[in-house]
Amino acid sequence: MQPIYEGKAKRLWGTDDATTLRMEFKNDATAFNGEKKASFESKGRLNNAISTLIYKYLERSGIPTHFVRQIDETNVEVKRVDILMVEVIIRNVAAGSFLKRTGMEEGRTFSAPIIEFSYKSDELGDPLINDDYIREMSLATPEDLAFLRESALKVNTILSSFFAEVGLKLVDFKLEFGRLVSDPSQIVLADEISPDGCRLWDLKTGEKMDKDRFRRDLGNVMEAYEEVLKRLTARLESN
Ligand code: UDP
Repeated sequence: MQPIYEGKAKRLWGTDDATTLRMEFKNDATAFNGEKKASFESKGRLNNAISTLIYKYLERSGIPTHFVRQIDETNVEVKRVDILMVEVIIRNVAAGSFLKRTGMEEGRTFSAPIIEFSYKSDELGDPLINDDYIREMSLATPEDLAFLRESALKVNTILSSFFAEVGLKLVDFKLEFGRLVSDPSQIVLADEISPDGCRLWDLKTGEKMDKDRFRRDLGNVMEAYEEVLKRLTARLESN
């Protein structure tokens, strides 16, 4: 069997049902547009566990997503979507590429969240684009874009409180959306939500608990992911 798609951190497999897919989390880690590569033994399991927990929480909070069910340690069943080629980045605190573009120092909390769009293209290195680019490139209609903004802000509000309750600051994160193959009028949240695509800082110590540990060779990468999972699990079990 061949996957229908293989990306840097996941594979997508067909199922008996034409409207769903199996999404497999790999142990591979990449950074800097694939230039830096490594493999971590428990990464697939940890990201699947964290993403599943977050997706269930978002669904319960009224956010429509592609999530159907967790199949096993490294696989989930998801609704089949056509992914919009626009990545949505939400920033609450200055970090990452925002610093390179602005010269600002890491750590300043914004007065309101910043939303950015980038064109999902490995070849071009996911360049920053704006509403006018999105219109002219026919990546989404203005109505779709308004929906993406609104959804991204809702997800930010929900997840910022969720992480704050477990002592983590949601600094920034990336979202992807897709159109349901079974009903293209519906756009839902898709892809994974894990420390690979979020910056999470410990509220007390400021310690980085996300993929920056890998990007910057800070060590204990999987230990940090494990700690994120442990805190989120404990938070859900306490309710
Ligand atoms: N991000 C991601 N995939 C991308 C680009 C960014 O998951 O292709 C996430 C990244 O992990 C961070 C946020 O989006 O949490 C903002 O990333 P930034 O633009 O600062 O880029 P970076 O410097 O992390 O590449």
